[in-house]
Amino acid sequence: MTSLYDPTRAELATLLDGEPRYRLDQLWSGLYEQRVEPAELTTLPKALRARLAEALPLALTPAAESVSDDGQTVKWLWRLHDGASIETVLMHYPDRSTVCVSTQAGCAMACGFCATGQAGFERNLSVGEIVEQVVRAAQVAAAGPTPRRVSNIVFMGMGEPLANVERVWRAVERIHADLGISARHLTISTVGIVPGIRRLAHESLPVNLAVSLHAANDTLRDELVPINRRYPLADLYAACADYLAEKNRRISFEWALIDGVNDNDSDARELAAAARSLRAHINLIPLNATPGWPTQGTPPERVAAFRDRLVELGANATVRANRGNEIDAACGQLRANQEVSVSAPRRRPLPH
Ligand code: SAH
Repeated sequence: MTSLYDPTRAELATLLDGEPRYRLDQLWSGLYEQRVEPAELTTLPKALRARLAEALPLALTPAAESVSDDGQTVKWLWRLHDGASIETVLMHYPDRSTVCVSTQAGCAMACGFCATGQAGFERNLSVGEIVEQVVRAAQVAAAGPTPRRVSNIVFMGMGEPLANVERVWRAVERIHADLGISARHLTISTVGIVPGIRRLAHESLPVNLAVSLHAANDTLRDELVPINRRYPLADLYAACADYLAEKNRRISFEWALIDGVNDNDSDARELAAAARSLRAHINLIPLNATPGWPTQGTPPERVAAFRDRLVELGANATVRANRGNEIDAACGQLRANQEVSVSAPRRRPLPH
């Protein structure tokens, strides 16, 4: 199914065949600059508006909207044309507004502590489904009592971006070229899909790379992040080194602190060593609660102590401010289908 934000400019030109040439500019700037739907593009003749609305429906139907952090965090649950659902989060900060987008319905990576991983994989999102999340969030941000411009995009919602890398990359290019968000303000977060990282290293746009590390030895990481069995740490670090060499952009390591699991002194030492050698920045995220994972997050005092220890070991580390916790919009809490069984996390075999 093709939705409004799927077609490239060339594809829209085909659709507008027979219309005056300037219609393409009107439509493209309507979609990507004014960010309105064809039906509201009054510069276009009425019959054409109707034809476009019919041919290019929106991909995302709102199923729920939740607001938290005094209105500074908004989460949407969207229904897609085939009944799949995904979530998008908009976060306002004093100096920026960030949209956290999903790249897949569900996720096949099966990280046990992540709600999306617990629910399993449904399908890849299309370019249009990814781009439209940004447009819809930007519309809402701009419409508020204090209008805000979306400045940053993080590919940290549901799904593994580098398991859908072709479409994600086309969405990145569209967001950059047509929605006007600079590459330095785009961050792709990955569980560590090595071929995907190498692919990004050879693209021209220098986006930020975030790697969800969580463990810096293979034994523990095999368990926490099952894809590590396919792409072990040595390969992952080598791919990160290539990315750094190609792009000279600082990589970040995400580390969800799990009480008694990856918050020991040995973890700090392994992590600091890896971060130092790759000049990576460490983002500590106290583990957020999810239905299918019994272990708690590290308590705040020990989160701070872990950070201090990393700094003492010569690494660069900060604790990520938590957003949207009470509406299950925080890292690892996105799961579109709230009815998913919470008793036994489904462990999936390694994706092929
Ligand atoms: N699949 C990609 C994109 C998801 S980003 C990736 O793994 O990077 C979501 C981030 O939240 C990742 O860093 C993920 O490891 C982290 N996360 C997952 N579950 C979490 C939880 N329960 N608490 C805190 N962070 C979590």
